[in-house]
Amino acid sequence: MNEKIVVFTGAGVSAESGIETFRASTGLWNNHNIMDVCHPSGWKKNPRKVLDFYNTRREDVRKAAPNAAHFSIAELENFYDVVVITQNIDNLHERAGSSNVMHLHGEITKVRSEGSSESKLYDIGYRPTSLGEKCESGFQLRPHVVWFDEMPLCIKEAEEHIGEANKILVVGTSLQVYPAASLPNLSFIAHDKIFITLDDVEPPHGFELHKGLASQLVPSIVDKWIEKITRKL
Ligand code: NAD
Repeated sequence: MNEKIVVFTGAGVSAESGIETFRASTGLWNNHNIMDVCHPSGWKKNPRKVLDFYNTRREDVRKAAPNAAHFSIAELENFYDVVVITQNIDNLHERAGSSNVMHLHGEITKVRSEGSSESKLYDIGYRPTSLGEKCESGFQLRPHVVWFDEMPLCIKEAEEHIGEANKILVVGTSLQVYPAASLPNLSFIAHDKIFITLDDVEPPHGFELHKGLASQLVPSIVDKWIEKITRKL
């Protein structure tokens, strides 16, 4: 049986692809009030503004391309059982070739009904959505994105994957958004635990801090892990 790797990513893995992070000094939160665009109250107050915000984010994703970090994460699948757990709503892991990606905070290329009984997702690709676009039951369609005060998707499944992983690679997250941020603490059997970020921070317990750009550091870790496994084969 192959060793299992969990790669847990945040906005930083896509920063070099041209998608803004939230917390950098040039990041999204400097230009937007979070409560207006990332909270159910903002949606209630001004849904048009929220749709416009996510239409722009969707267009940013269309224009972006995966970077070396996304591609090397995808390459790991040739040698290990890999699960990518991402907080990102972009699709750059999939476009780089990763086949097992869990989106804890939703996906920008999908919308869902705001009617609570509806769980159906609609794949809209990169097109903008507008006020008045409704599901079959007549409810307004909203971005398939988890806002503050909403529960992340598939968190239980993510916890199980982390608990079973032999190696964990955490990339480009400030670990400020809970409960996703506590996932690295649930890794009990992993013997290689790497945390890649630009920040001078204390990594989660048991993790080795690698400070620098994801596009440089991820490929070097991946190369080492691939070399390790191919020596054993
Ligand atoms: P964050 O903005 O809070 O933190 C980003 C982290 O990445 C920082 O610690 C920063 O040092 C690091 N970083 C930035 N550029 C990097 C690089 N080139 N290489 C390595 N590290 C780099 O992001 P977060 O922790 O993911 O949390 C914010 C929330 O924002 C998430 O829940 C996510 O849903 C959402 N978000 C997603 C996207 C996206 O889909 N690409 C973009 C912005 C925000």
